[in-house]
Amino acid sequence: MPYSYDDQNIFAKILRGEIPNDTVLETEHSLAFRDIQPQAPVHILVIPRGAYVNYDDFATNATDAEILDYTRAISKVCEIAGVDPDGFRMISNAGENGVQEVPHLHVHILGGRPLGRMLA
Ligand code: C5P
Repeated sequence: MPYSYDDQNIFAKILRGEIPNDTVLETEHSLAFRDIQPQAPVHILVIPRGAYVNYDDFATNATDAEILDYTRAISKVCEIAGVDPDGFRMISNAGENGVQEVPHLHVHILGGRPLGRMLA
């Protein structure tokens, strides 16, 4: 599916340095920062630097180097945040039904407390 990327979205502005962020990790192709409205003691967003709307756009159109960097960055963020031993949740909302607010791919890393069962 072809995607149209809005370069005025808030994460594009963060990537251009136009809006500040609380950075956790920077890599060649990825950036991780703390969510401004945390839903758990650990709530970090991991985004690719490239202009991808959602997971499908990224998985379909990103280079192998970007995909490797991004998947490893997510793991590294979990290590930095220390959530691995007790467990955590990764979520990526997409589109209207997924209630995606920001149209730039992001994975939420949530942890630091029992998160409860989540099906919807
Ligand atoms: O998955 P969804 O698009 O709904 O989530 C967007 C997330 O981006 C929200 O959790 C919101 O708090 C976060 N956000 C942020 N910094 C901004 C704007 C939004 O962390 N400047």
